[in-house]
Amino acid sequence: MNSPIGELLPPNRLMLTPGPSQIDPRVYRAMSTPIVGHLDPWFLEMMGDVQVLLRQIFQTQNRLTFPISASGSGGIEAAVLNPLEAGDEAIICVNGAFSERMAIIAERTPAKIVRVEAPYGRPCDPDDVRRAGKGKKIKILGVTHGESSTSVVTDLDSMRKVADELGALLVVDTVSTLAGMPINVDHTQIDICFSGSQKALSAPPGMSPITVNARAEEVLRARKTPVQSWYFDLTTTMNYWGKERTYHHTAPISLVFALREAMRIVLEEGLEARWARHRENRDALVAGVEAMGIELFVENPKDRQVTVTGMKVPAGVNDAKLRNQLLDEFNIEIGGGFGPLKGKLWRVGLMGHGCQKANVLLFLAAFEKCLLDQGFRLSAGAGVGAAIRSYSEAHAAVAVHK
Ligand SMILES: *Cc1c(COP(=O)(O)O)cnc(C)c1O
Repeated sequence: MNSPIGELLPPNRLMLTPGPSQIDPRVYRAMSTPIVGHLDPWFLEMMGDVQVLLRQIFQTQNRLTFPISASGSGGIEAAVLNPLEAGDEAIICVNGAFSERMAIIAERTPAKIVRVEAPYGRPCDPDDVRRAGKGKKIKILGVTHGESSTSVVTDLDSMRKVADELGALLVVDTVSTLAGMPINVDHTQIDICFSGSQKALSAPPGMSPITVNARAEEVLRARKTPVQSWYFDLTTTMNYWGKERTYHHTAPISLVFALREAMRIVLEEGLEARWARHRENRDALVAGVEAMGIELFVENPKDRQVTVTGMKVPAGVNDAKLRNQLLDEFNIEIGGGFGPLKGKLWRVGLMGHGCQKANVLLFLAAFEKCLLDQGFRLSAGAGVGAAIRSYSEAHAAVAVHK
């Protein structure tokens, strides 16, 4: 018999999107390791390795630290549903599509949700949060660290300060920033912090690491009603990832293997070195696109996310046509804008394994050709030239430093 469908033969793409990112071959090898039962004593012990690695990457001692079996959005569900119940009030900072998703998820709980908004391209103002929470009993303040739909980063220290003033738990989405930008859960005192496997961690999509500190655990224990979601109830999933290792759901074993290897790679490189690599490549990318006459979406340099760079689609250039050409002619995928930003924004992700000099230079050269083909005026080679200068300057700075 013949299968009606042919063999799986995907194209070989370079994914410079805001996720999923490129994956190291070591991670693919780990993922193809034959599986072991999710209750096998060997597997139960191996889960401890995963938790050790995760605590180092989150920079936390939190007991409750493990990967949820879900994509980054599952992390939002868990982080928001667990602390909230009827009678509670929460503030969610909204400045893009992912922070809006956090608000939408929170609004499905019986809690009262206050949105504090900022225009797309800017972080929310801590003073607006302060005003919104004045005289209220706010249980959680929800913040998206890297709002990858616009490439804005939010300063977590100032949000921690407001959360303290309001007596609120600080809940942070680091899906697009963990392992690509500095995040120190214990130092910043983030109460609930979650991420995603497929961005700067450079593992396949499908897992959402989360960490909950003792203070937040206390709040979860004090709930009067059960968490509205059975699957995302952290107190019961933790019985599987906790000392007891009692069955909750079947872990995505191959993904756990992959995440374990991806995290080993992160720590072999070292967090500081990894953050510096992300910054150096991002700086070269920005130097390159600006030299080509492309404007960045986020005006204030200090508000720019390192792992994702948003660029304005210039007048006279067709967004979809350019991205299709990059894909068809060069096998390069970048992100577009969504919602109100559709057709107006390009988003280039330089995350994890894909965040390399060779990819930056290749992208700039290919991008130049696509822009020229649409009649956009720029001086040939300007982008690659500026990126090379940026790399040389970064190295000169390091040499002086030594
Ligand atoms: C990608 C992303 C998400 C969603 O993750 P999925 O894995 O697509 O569910 C959430 N928040 C941020 C900040 C993201 O960048």
